[in-house]
Amino acid sequence: MSERSPATVALHAGQTLKTRAQGVTPALHLASVSHFEHSADLDDALDGRDFVYGRINAPNAHLLEQAVAALEGAEAAAAFGSGMAALRSVFEVQALLPGAVVVTPADGYGATFALFKRLCGERQLRFCPLLFSAPDAAQALRALRPSFVLAESLTNPLLTVPDLPALAAVCEEVGATFAVDATFASPVLQRPLSLGAHYAIHSTTKWINGHGDALGGVVSASAGRIAALKAFRTQDGAILGPFDAYLTLRGLRTLPLRMSQHVKHARALAERLTVHPLVARVHHPFLPSHQSHAIAKRLLPHGEGGVLSFEVKGAGRAEIFSLLEQLTLARPAPSLGDVTTLVMHPATASARRMSEEERARAGILENLLRVSVGLEDPEDLFADLSAALKAALA
Ligand SMILES: *Cc1c(COP(=O)(O)O)cnc(C)c1O
Repeated sequence: MSERSPATVALHAGQTLKTRAQGVTPALHLASVSHFEHSADLDDALDGRDFVYGRINAPNAHLLEQAVAALEGAEAAAAFGSGMAALRSVFEVQALLPGAVVVTPADGYGATFALFKRLCGERQLRFCPLLFSAPDAAQALRALRPSFVLAESLTNPLLTVPDLPALAAVCEEVGATFAVDATFASPVLQRPLSLGAHYAIHSTTKWINGHGDALGGVVSASAGRIAALKAFRTQDGAILGPFDAYLTLRGLRTLPLRMSQHVKHARALAERLTVHPLVARVHHPFLPSHQSHAIAKRLLPHGEGGVLSFEVKGAGRAEIFSLLEQLTLARPAPSLGDVTTLVMHPATASARRMSEEERARAGILENLLRVSVGLEDPEDLFADLSAALKAALA
């Protein structure tokens, strides 16, 4: 049978629950514990072959895991209470020894940068942020002799695209584990496991849920790696809750549909902003001017996602704050991946925990704004942004 398209998979995967368990409270599967008619079945469940206690495994999280694994083309997946919990759990199961080299994107998601910096510091690991978009990134990575490498499919907020197959080849060569945070691309636009990664990680809070009403994280990998992650999760207690899993799976049903629309709208808005007189520069890989334009065509053939960023001509913090207050459609909120458009000021939000020097090195300027382009008509959005630009810089 030929491989089905993401639109079909998103609708039909994660539908069936094989269980003999009866929750002590009925559906939405909110029950934290199940009881069994036969002791043998409870015994079986405690061995991990059925649902029995919500911290170990739970029906709604399980269904979401099935659906994400199917979209990723993965053997299995594990769901967590947030994207950060997913990232930390992947790190924890590596059992890295003191002195081991951990490489993360120098221009990556701010909270991830801060988390890995702290964890490495506590464990005497060598924390080595690297600019994966640099032309010599693969050689630089090889020279570091890493044990664990985390890349991001598209970086935040400048949208550079690392050459994942090249990085995977280096990891293979030096025996490093390779994880990819593919939150910005979603499993519809990129499948890291097919490009050589060992783990594909998502904050489901973003595109996968897409409706701004549930936090979550999910990791896809081989069955063996997921079993180890779930064993860790059982002890750590960071499983995704039933209602968040339920909402996220409902959101996932329309992920392929939403992503194709977000891609179209982001491209249209990027092109319009490029010629706006008050915009100094637009960052979006669809634009031929973007440093990752060619590589995005190769690694994100179905689109670059719904995020873009742009620099406002001559704006300091006061003008940026004023601009955010003038918006009437797009909303200033420090997240992305929602059906509605969200605008964020990286220097004071996502990159807030980075030092000024770290921000400068990552190219995050004071006049930079990130837009997660929603499903509104892009012409309406452009009009909203234009009016706010004009009002703030008048
Ligand atoms: C949001 C985000 C995270 C963190 O996810 P949470 O669900 O907020 O914990 C990690 N990586 C990327 C790329 C993100 O956008």
